[in-house]
Parts: sequence; C-alpha cells; structure tokens
Amino acid sequence: MSVANGHFFVLAPSMAILFLAGLLGICWLNQRQQRFLLWQSMAYSSAALPIGFQSFATLDELNRYAVLIGACYLLGAWCLAKSWAERWQVSTRPRVALLIGAATLAALLYHSHIDQDVWVRVHSFSIGSGLVLLLPISELLKKERSKDWLDETLFWSSLIFTVFTIARPSLIALLGYTDLRAFVRSPYWLITLMSILLFALLFTFLMGAIAFRESVLQLRKERDCDALTQILNRRAFHEAAQLLLADRRMYPVAVLAGDIDHFKHINDSWGHDRGDQVLQLVSATLQRNVRSHDLVARFGGEEFVLLLTRIDLQGAEDLAQRIRSQLSADNSLLQGARLTISFGIAPVTGPDQLDSALKQADELLYDAKKAGRDRVHTAGILYPDLSL
Ligand code: GH3
Ligand code: MG
Ligand code: MG
Repeated sequence: MSVANGHFFVLAPSMAILFLAGLLGICWLNQRQQRFLLWQSMAYSSAALPIGFQSFATLDELNRYAVLIGACYLLGAWCLAKSWAERWQVSTRPRVALLIGAATLAALLYHSHIDQDVWVRVHSFSIGSGLVLLLPISELLKKERSKDWLDETLFWSSLIFTVFTIARPSLIALLGYTDLRAFVRSPYWLITLMSILLFALLFTFLMGAIAFRESVLQLRKERDCDALTQILNRRAFHEAAQLLLADRRMYPVAVLAGDIDHFKHINDSWGHDRGDQVLQLVSATLQRNVRSHDLVARFGGEEFVLLLTRIDLQGAEDLAQRIRSQLSADNSLLQGARLTISFGIAPVTGPDQLDSALKQADELLYDAKKAGRDRVHTAGILYPDLSL
C-alpha cells in the first residue's frame, strides 16, 4: 500500500467527504427534526471509508475486498436515497433496494473471486447503486412535486447524479480511459473522485440551504402562530392585516370579532382539556370557512378575529351564520349541549381604520352577548334591545 510510503495526500478526497459528513451531523444535532441531514451524513461516512481504502489499495487488495467495498458504497447509496426520501416524504422501497443490493454483491463476488474482471465490477456496482438511488425518485414522480426552487434543484440534481452514477463507467470509457490496471492512478479513478466530490459539495449546499430555510420558517411560525390552535396571534394578525389593507384590490373588507358563549361553563363542566379541544375545533371551523386571502386569528382566551377580504357586510354575515350553525350542529365534543358562538361584524374602509373597526366589531359582539348570545350583530343594522 502506497500510504505506507507517506503519500497521505491520497486520502484528501475521503477526508474532505468525512469533513462534510461531520458538518451535516452537527447541523442535524442542532435541528433533529430534519432527519434528512442525518441520513446524508451517514451516506457520506459510508462512502468516505471505501474511497479512502481504494485510494491506496493495490489491484490485488481491491479484488480481495471487492464485496466489502461494494457493500459500503451500496449502504452509502441507500442512505443518500433515504435522505432524499425523508425530504420528499416518499418510500425508499427497502425490499427492492435489498434485492438490488444482493444481486450487485453477488456480481461483485463472482467477478472478484471466480472470473476477475474490474470493468464488469465497476459496471455492476454503478448500475446497482444507481438503481437504489432511482427508487425514491420514481416514488416522487408518482406524486405532485413542490414548486419551490430549492426542492426543484434538489430533485434535478438527484436525477442527474443518479443517471451519472449508472452511466459513469461508460462515459469514462467513451473518453478512452479503459485501462484500470493501475486503478488508483487511472483517469477513471480521478474523474470518479472529482465527480463524487463535486456532487457531495452540491448536495451539502442544497440540504444545508433547505435545512436553514426550514428553521427560519419554523421560527417564524412559532412567532406568528398560537401554539394551541396554530392560527395567527394578535401581533401577526395586525402585521398581515396591514399588508392586505394596503392593497386596494382586497376591498370591500370586513372584520369579525367572535367569542365562544359560556366557555367558562364548558371548562367547568367538561374539564380544561376538553375546553382546549373546543378551541381547536372552533379554529379549524373558522379556517375551513374562509378563503386563502382572509385572516383568522386568536386574540386570546376564547376570542377570535377574522379579516374577510373582497366581501360585503351581507356576505360576511352569511359566513358568520354558516360558522355558527356548523358549530352548534357539531356534537363531537359536548354531548348533550350546543356549542354556540357570538359575532360582531364591522366594515374596514382603509388601512388606518383597522383599530376603530375592531373596536366597533367588539362593541357589536358585546351587544350580541347582551341580546342572548348565539347570534351575529352586523354594523348598520338595528337590533331590538332584548336585555331590557
Ligand atoms: P361569555 O358567554 O360571556 O363569553 O362567557 P364566557 O364564560 O365564555 O367568558 P369568560 O370571559 O367568563 O370566560 C372565559 C374563560 O376562558 C375563562 C378562562 O379560564 C378560559 N380560558 C382562557 N384561555 C383558555 C385556554 O387556552 N384553554 C381553556 N381550556 N380555557 C381558557
Ligand atoms: Mg366567551
Ligand atoms: Mg371572552
């Protein structure tokens, strides 16, 4: 082995890949829910080992350990496939992968111990690993892909890498480099190393960028959303509302203040946990009834605020009545009792009118409570004062 002569530099590529594996591992330790980082780190570690060994092994040693080297690469290919599959939420088809792996190892065994042929080994290994990588890609093609540019880049890079993995020996042979007797110093090995390093860097960058963006989105979600109901909190509502109200195409706009009736009684009779479930049910019902350009927020306790865009007051009232009747018809949580809610509705005429509209909607909500609850009070309509 030439490494014994001090040529440690031949280990540089495998060290570089190990370094990337370590980097991805550290990223995963900080972002444990992003498991694709861990799988990618394992893929690089599995590949770095045989790359290091091959960089200084003699042809004899390569023959002897061909199956072991192949197994490490195949494991690396499967871990990489698993990393993509984690990101795309598809299967790696582990049983098919196992079959491909077994067939590849059998071919490597035959062509290293019975009929020694490096070229056939190189081809069978490349086809085996490529097919393992192809499994999650073919699964992803069956479902709708994300339109996000980072995910699209990841998809196309994965596809190019997979095709390249399968075709690499033929491509290098086309260039005229077919002599593998001095394997380590052959152009085949150099081109292989260069391409693996380039793809390793590309995938590290892509997965790192995806992980970073996911963390930012997660932090933003935690800042903007109420933890119990996953709808906007008061601060995020005001921020999003100002953006919508600045757009003239969104008018007419209405703001709805809603409050669950006798919620304290629900907590007292069914327990606090059931109260929490009621809050989640109401939030889900509100969200189901609005459109993508409307806002739904929890302002605290059992108070909700909706900003409805491109809708007149009559349309907003119809929507509030629909929500009210859906909730009172739902008996999944409060057996034997009706879940009711009251609403106050006011128009918003401009960006600087939001606070006064919210105040008006709150006053109308208060009137609806006084008038007996389980009702909708809309601005501009005279309601009989039933509290007298
Ligand atoms: P009204 O019909 O007049 O609105 O009466 P109410 O009982 O709904 O209103 P009140 O303001 O008297 O009580 C609200 C209750 O909501 C009191 C509080 O303990 C409860 N609450 C506030 N936040 C939460 C929460 O996150 N989970 C649960 N389960 N209860 C909450
Ligand atoms: Mg209430
Ligand atoms: Mg209240």
